[in-house]
Amino acid sequence: MPRNRIIVPDTIVIHYSATPVEKDFSVGDIDAMHRQRGFNKIGYHFYITKDGTVHKGRDTVERGVEMGAHVRGHNDHTIGICYEGGVTLAQPHIGHDTRTAEQTAAMVALIKQLQRQYRIKKIVGHRDLGPTQCPGFDVKSWWASVTAPPAAQPELTLVERIIQWLTSILSRGR
Ligand SMILES: [Zn+2]
Repeated sequence: MPRNRIIVPDTIVIHYSATPVEKDFSVGDIDAMHRQRGFNKIGYHFYITKDGTVHKGRDTVERGVEMGAHVRGHNDHTIGICYEGGVTLAQPHIGHDTRTAEQTAAMVALIKQLQRQYRIKKIVGHRDLGPTQCPGFDVKSWWASVTAPPAAQPELTLVERIIQWLTSILSRGR
């Protein structure tokens, strides 16, 4: 049973762990860090490690989720997804997108699954909701590019259509 109250999410918030991408930071490490902060368990609902594995944090139920602790003022209507990394050893205070291809693929699949399950439309980054660099990239434009429809085939011009028609007539005559 979840230990925190159940909320109905309408938004997914993306985070990074703010740990150097060169090092490993496990879901157990996050859990321990959050307990040290006084939370009763990991504050995120999902944690995606560099290998693309999705680890469960706070509980999810069919129509809601256990309230998380990941974004001030918005925990009562959001799901928190965190990816391992976000900074480098050389620049530990500058956040940027360090996601591996595996992490990105896992994140896309997870977001789509949660969207279906909870009918969520809004996908944002932590920095869209508060003063932080987290998650190190513009989630809204990234998600728009992920979900953009494939480019439409250009229409044939009139001249191209006439050439096509003539070619078909000529090939029939052979
Ligand atoms: Zn964050």
